[in-house]
Amino acid sequence: MMNYDLVVIGAGLAGMTTALKALQQGQKTIVVAAGAGAMEVMSGCLDICGGDDNPWLALRRLVAEKPAHPYALLSEEEIREALAFFVEQIKGACPYYHQSGFRNFRIPTALGGRRRACLLPEGQLAAATEGPVLAVGFKGYRDFSAELMAEGMNRVGYRWQATEVDTCCLQGGEGDGGRICNNSVEIALRLERSWRLLAEELSGRTRGFAAAAFPAVLGLDQHLTVKRGLEKSLGVSVFEAPALPPSLPGMRLAASLAARIRRGGGDLLQGFPVVSADIQGRMCRRIIVATPGSPLSIGGKNFILASGGILGGGILLERERASEAVFNFPASGFRRQASVFQTGVRVNRRMQPLAADGQVILENVFCAGRILAGYDPFSEGSGAGVAVATGYRAAVEAGRMAEQ
Ligand SMILES: Cc1cc2nc3c(=O)[nH]c(=O)nc-3n(C[C@H](O)[C@H](O)[C@H](O)COP(=O)(O)OP(=O)(O)OC[C@H]3O[C@@H](n4cnc5c(N)ncnc54)[C@H](O)[C@@H]3O)c2cc1C
Repeated sequence: MMNYDLVVIGAGLAGMTTALKALQQGQKTIVVAAGAGAMEVMSGCLDICGGDDNPWLALRRLVAEKPAHPYALLSEEEIREALAFFVEQIKGACPYYHQSGFRNFRIPTALGGRRRACLLPEGQLAAATEGPVLAVGFKGYRDFSAELMAEGMNRVGYRWQATEVDTCCLQGGEGDGGRICNNSVEIALRLERSWRLLAEELSGRTRGFAAAAFPAVLGLDQHLTVKRGLEKSLGVSVFEAPALPPSLPGMRLAASLAARIRRGGGDLLQGFPVVSADIQGRMCRRIIVATPGSPLSIGGKNFILASGGILGGGILLERERASEAVFNFPASGFRRQASVFQTGVRVNRRMQPLAADGQVILENVFCAGRILAGYDPFSEGSGAGVAVATGYRAAVEAGRMAEQ
């Protein structure tokens, strides 16, 4: 049996943050995940609390309204510490930026209009511009409309124009040269080979604009080269606007976090679900992972449950009830609360799972991210913030437990 100090279930933002913090604390760590989580569908912008330009004011209001909110378990100082840790961990390969004091940026939406976000990847940083923007679409690529976005932005008082380029101008792989492509990953890979051809095609069109907006397809592994190269050639700031999933910014973030974990000495087993756990008294001893062939047994001193909510597979919804998928923890909030997204596992301040009577169910299991009860990332604009902050806290608590 493989044995670790810490076994993390889930490779979303929460699980990855936990693993990075645990590795920093010197714990032998493995991340086991069925899939990639919400990162591959999210915009890539990280939301802390969207209700106000100052997310901390919005967060205080939220916690006052919802005392069972995961943010109520943390101090603002701890949340800032977790965000700073996260940014530090991924700088270089996938740099993220924030304003002083982690205030919200206002960035355009795909249909025009602005929304708030706290941490922006480099590819979306110039999106906060107030100046005139040229929105560039790709003919045949239907997941983003430059025209629709420009019209929407003009309706709310901005000065945007739209233009289109033909993906035939981009060099394909061997044998597919000249073919129109309508798939975001394929356009991204073509741009890595031939962003200079795109810059030539757009030559002269960006004059008079502060920035050019492209759908979020500007490269995958070589994104920074493509984005910075286009900026230099076009003489304007370049940013990516959200397109439909799969999300290239999210895929870049997931890949950077995975690479960082491996570089830090952590193990990552992705593509296989945890199907059960071996429990003795109030301690989890090992988890069982379904792999092709015989199931894999992974032992650990401590475990982090970061398996997502109802969309991530962590919470199972049945007709009359909801439950947690690996340990069968009770899921609270189902039916009683207005939003089904608030359904999840209730925890104490140490992030340990609680039964309906308030008793800790398992001492050495800590929960983080979407699996937690009491919040709705969509209406609150709190998704990444809760995942990162509770993931960080769960690792700290597991580290304390390991020292006892
Ligand atoms: C469409 C969409 C768009 C979003 N856009 C944004 C945005 O723009 N900004 C923002 O801040 N937030 C956004 N969010 C919310 C945010 O992405 C999530 O709240 C946050 O990423 C949740 O992270 P997590 O790690 O808790 O869960 P998830 O990302 O769901 O990860 C769960 C992980 O657990 C794994 N897992 C599940 N069950 C098992 C099992 N049995 N065994 C092993 N592994 C398992 C999954 O495969 C996955 O790896 C969006 C969410 C969605 C769905």
